[in-house]
Amino acid sequence: MKISEIANLPTKYGKFKIQSFMENDKEHLVIFTENLPEIPLVRIHSECLTGDALGSLKCDCGEQLEYALKEVNKQGGMVIYLRQEGRGIGLFNKVNAYALQDRGLDTVEANHQLGFEADMRDFSIVEKILKHFGIKKIKLLTNNPKKEFSFKDIKVIKRIPIIIKPNPYNINYLKTKKEKLGHKIEFNEKWRNNNGK
Ligand SMILES: [Zn+2]
Repeated sequence: MKISEIANLPTKYGKFKIQSFMENDKEHLVIFTENLPEIPLVRIHSECLTGDALGSLKCDCGEQLEYALKEVNKQGGMVIYLRQEGRGIGLFNKVNAYALQDRGLDTVEANHQLGFEADMRDFSIVEKILKHFGIKKIKLLTNNPKKEFSFKDIKVIKRIPIIIKPNPYNINYLKTKKEKLGHKIEFNEKWRNNNGK
């Protein structure tokens, strides 16, 4: 693992520091607050170019990232930004998966049709990064319960959900995440009523 220097990153969400961690040709990024509390708020975010940078409404990644940066700025902590696009299948394959979704498949079915697992992401570097910062306990900002169990020496003392309002384009995506991938997504009453759930 190669570790860059630390640089300043002022953003519209607050003043952060950034540091890059490179492993297997992947250039990951940690965006963190100057003062890290003993038990920092941590968001592990996997890259989603369409959602994070292009404002795509097909998923909730952009909104989750924005929410995370705001909360981390408030409470002190870090966003670990992992370069594993499209649940680890890469951008090219993600576009093909989107095309299959246009024809009616859900995200899990589309990945399977392309010969991939539903989720190909690898979170093993996260523990190395946290250890580098000397962090032993975290508050984890996530709707994905699997992320809690991938740590050996890091203790997740609290899981804080991210509540995102669904839109007409990502309702089915969020529903698949909840029903097929075990995400604990809290839907509000309005969403329930619209979908008869
Ligand atoms: Zn996304």
